[in-house]
Amino acid sequence: MDCARIWFAGYTILNWLVNFRRGLLFNTGYIIPKKHIEHDILRVRDLTQRFVTGGSMLSLTIATSLNCNMACTYCYEGRSAIKKKDMDDAVQADVVDFVKKHLENGNIKQFHVSWYGGEPLLNKDAIYNLSSEFKKLCSEKNVGYHASITTNGILLDYETAKRLKDDCAVTAAQVTVDGMPEHHDARRIFLDGKGSFDILVNNIEASREFLQIAVRVNVDKENASSAVELKKYFADKGWKDNPYVYPAPIRDYGNCNYNTSCIFSGNDFARFESKQIEESYALDERNIMRVYPRRMDYFCGAQRLNNFVIDPEGLLYSCWNDVGIVDQSFGDVKNGYDLNENYTKWLLSEPSPKCRECQFLPVCQGGCPHDFFSRGEPTCLSWVHDYKNRLKLAYKDHISKKNSESSEVAAQCQCGA
Ligand code: SF4
Ligand code: SF4
Repeated sequence: MDCARIWFAGYTILNWLVNFRRGLLFNTGYIIPKKHIEHDILRVRDLTQRFVTGGSMLSLTIATSLNCNMACTYCYEGRSAIKKKDMDDAVQADVVDFVKKHLENGNIKQFHVSWYGGEPLLNKDAIYNLSSEFKKLCSEKNVGYHASITTNGILLDYETAKRLKDDCAVTAAQVTVDGMPEHHDARRIFLDGKGSFDILVNNIEASREFLQIAVRVNVDKENASSAVELKKYFADKGWKDNPYVYPAPIRDYGNCNYNTSCIFSGNDFARFESKQIEESYALDERNIMRVYPRRMDYFCGAQRLNNFVIDPEGLLYSCWNDVGIVDQSFGDVKNGYDLNENYTKWLLSEPSPKCRECQFLPVCQGGCPHDFFSRGEPTCLSWVHDYKNRLKLAYKDHISKKNSESSEVAAQCQCGA
């Protein structure tokens, strides 16, 4: 081959590579055409998802009780403004009517309920009654129905887990275990001061047959190492992917006797979380926490149409952090919602001016709006503080998944299947 041909072949390959990469970067949104204004594109996507696509899903977070059978040291539910009560039959009937009205307009294609509290299982009857009504309504209107529960796990025994799955379409439960007994039993205590570790482990064992359990470990600088031990403790029992264990930083809500000097800074928690992800590989867990962010159109359900949190009195809110704080509500299930500022501020919430300048905006969308409303500044997600490390972990995850796919193919070939 003469020089000209070699040059031409090299040029063609290079050109192809450049175009391929450019196409990939365009398609994935890393590069945008010159005439496009990225902020406007993000806003249009955001509004479409909040009011059109996402609006076809009715999501209710229902607090069946604001009472609790525990007295955890850091709990924000201790706020004196909250009225501790259970949802009675009259409010339940109003909740059913509220759902009926939403399903009757014909735009709702999916209905999801998160049972919440206080402790929702202190009012199991409300869950059983409402679930039965919801399932009936959804089957009449041909709407998909699914549910999950956030519980302290104390009452989540075999019978309850089975009934939640069989009769209430609950598929997933979030339970909190704050590490091994020496830490958990000092934090997650009953009203008489006794610890709850053994009861929880028994209930997780009993209910994992029916529900996918996510174990949240509320961590600070004191119990962080215990979260790692807890993961190993479950792995030693052979419970690999169910429960799925993940750490969450304890936040300062300024309303309890908790020693806030132990709270992780954003940086420290990010490093701790990355270490946790690496240890998940060591334990050969497939169900590791999401290691790298993806593009999102808005931050959370509280910003979306047809998303409501309902307290035991039937009052409506957008964010579950407000549940029971009456002056944050914007109507009730009997009379419907009022488009007052308590509601519209969520529907129209936008990333802060600081976020508009941030390189992470397309994959963060300004963080938790509740944080922004209460603190006046955004709270960046933990991975932001450690994104380079996360990129390496995401690559490692990608490679290990590819390897395991190819070894599965190889295994199939060898056995002739
Ligand atoms: S606003 Fe924040 S706390 Fe409320 S639901 Fe959304 S992410 Fe959660
Ligand atoms: S919350 Fe933080 S990371 Fe997210 S967009 Fe705003 S400044 Fe960026």
